[in-house]
This record gives sequence, structure tokens and C-alpha cells, in this order.
Amino acid sequence: MSQDIDTKRRSFLKTTALGVAAVPFAGAMLQSQVARADMPRLEEDDDIAQSLDYVHDAADASDHAQYQDGSTCANCSLWQGGDEQWGGCDIIPGHNVNADGWCNAWVPAG
Ligand code: SF4
Repeated sequence: MSQDIDTKRRSFLKTTALGVAAVPFAGAMLQSQVARADMPRLEEDDDIAQSLDYVHDAADASDHAQYQDGSTCANCSLWQGGDEQWGGCDIIPGHNVNADGWCNAWVPAG
């Protein structure tokens, strides 16, 4: 009987600890989604875009020496996601980039 109570107590404590530990992460994820929605879109003539040869449409980079067929922001490991067309990028803080875009820092996802 007391072993059953100990088992239930341990399970309760484990579940509670996991739940409490997850709260800050859920808050940070929600805050990150809100921040992305509020971020302006990166313009191609912004300094950081120019320095990375960023374009909204990867097809416009097809003649770039570093461009690889099929590469876009959406399949870059630095893509943070967002809505279906615009999302964050790890190396371009404070702006959203186009899912169909590309820059010379592209790194294959996966
Ligand atoms: S690093 Fe990746 S996600 Fe960011 S702009 Fe360049 S290609 Fe797009």
C-alpha cells in the first residue's frame, strides 16, 4: 500500500516538475512568435541585405557564384520560420525575410 502511494507521489512530483520547467519555454516561444509578426520585412536595399546579397526571390540569385539550385530561405538552417511567406533569420535580427528569398550565407537545413 505505502509503495503504491510512493509511486503515485513520485509520478506526481515528476509531472509537476516537467510542467513547471516547460512554462518559461512556452512563454519564450510565444513571445518569439509575437516578435516575428511585429518585425519589419527586410528590404533588398538595406545594408545588411546588400552585404549578404539577399534577394526576396531566389531566382534573382541564380547567377550568383554561391547559389545552389533549389536553395531558398525556407530550406536554410538559419530560417526561423514565421507565417507562410515571411519569417525570421538567425543572422538578420529584427527583420523578417522571404521564404522564397536567398542570401550568400545560405546553409542547407537538416
Ligand atoms: S541566412 Fe538563410 S534564412 Fe537567412 S536570409 Fe540567408 S538564406 Fe535566408
